[in-house]
Amino acid sequence: MQVDSKAPSKLGSMMACKCPRCRTGKVFPNSVFDITGFSKTNDFCPNCGLKFEHETGFFWGAMYVSYAFSTAFMIIFGIIAINNDWSWNKIVWTILISAIVLVPFSYRYSRILLLYVISPNRRYDSRYRFGELKDTGLNSKS
Ligand SMILES: [Zn+2]
Repeated sequence: MQVDSKAPSKLGSMMACKCPRCRTGKVFPNSVFDITGFSKTNDFCPNCGLKFEHETGFFWGAMYVSYAFSTAFMIIFGIIAINNDWSWNKIVWTILISAIVLVPFSYRYSRILLLYVISPNRRYDSRYRFGELKDTGLNSKS
């Protein structure tokens, strides 16, 4: 068994949208800046074979996390706008535009948060990182 002396950090892997089990495979195949493809999520980890949506509707929970992110963004931009003595019209447009622009980030990180924090059975295992173990899809555990 290979010694994993330089295991990727959990926070770094979350920020890079990597698989929670091997921290190597990408959860999303496209760039966050790809307007039409940012929402596509891999079904399985390309490195270890982990099935990301391990039960039907698993990512529906991300909707609530995304709602919390959007609310936080709106409050932050609202506070910034109000503290700069902007007109109400300008404040509303700033909040609306920032909420729309940040949709891809909110969408992705709500799913990542769900995979890393709320799913307790998806812990890092270096054997999956180095290819000692791999799910083939037939025997993939959730
Ligand atoms: Zn993986």
